[in-house]
Amino acid sequence: MSRRQVGLFFGSFNPVHVGHMILANFMATRTSLDEVWFVVSPHNPFKKRGSLARDHDRFHLVELAIGDTPRLRASRVEFDLPKPSYTIDTLAVLREKYPTYDFSLIMGSDNLASLPKWKNHELILRDFAIQLYPRPGFPGGELLEHPRVTLYDAPLMHLSATYVRDAIRTGESIRYLVPPAVEEELLKSGLYR
Ligand code: ATP
Repeated sequence: MSRRQVGLFFGSFNPVHVGHMILANFMATRTSLDEVWFVVSPHNPFKKRGSLARDHDRFHLVELAIGDTPRLRASRVEFDLPKPSYTIDTLAVLREKYPTYDFSLIMGSDNLASLPKWKNHELILRDFAIQLYPRPGFPGGELLEHPRVTLYDAPLMHLSATYVRDAIRTGESIRYLVPPAVEEELLKSGLYR
């Protein structure tokens, strides 16, 4: 049997929005990946929380966003790891926990350009494939030519969680910016208000 191909989509998802969902669903349905996992980053205790919602709340919103969408999953693996968590450590834990899965990283060209600054980035590039999507204004740097990197022409939205938070704070509508279940929960909970 062939090994299950799982793409990891890391982020703070503060909150998750349709830009994330469109990309994740593209990766889960239009590439060789079998599944996409949203890996929700925990609050780093060495940083100020600022507008970052609680881990549990952000995770719950991701679960609501996914609903019953096939091939998408939310992972809280980083919540139980020492903080701050580094991608290479999370990857090691996942590999050990799911020995029959092949994990790869879903990454925007903005992140690829800064990858050389990550902890043990040579090990990441040696052991894990990178599913890359273009972010406007970020050519991706020299790693674009790396054999481990595959560039996909994913549909992109010019939308950020910052934009969604600002809209909530100023009382603007967030309809269509987030999935309906997320909109409902945000309005009900008063999160980011
Ligand atoms: P913020 O505005 O708070 O910085 P964000 O919208 O960029 O948040 P993150 O949680 O930081 O959201 O993003 C998680 C991952 O999703 C990152 O790798 C980021 O590059 C990517 N991403 C963010 N916005 C989009 C988008 N509109 N389309 C595709 N990917 C996105």
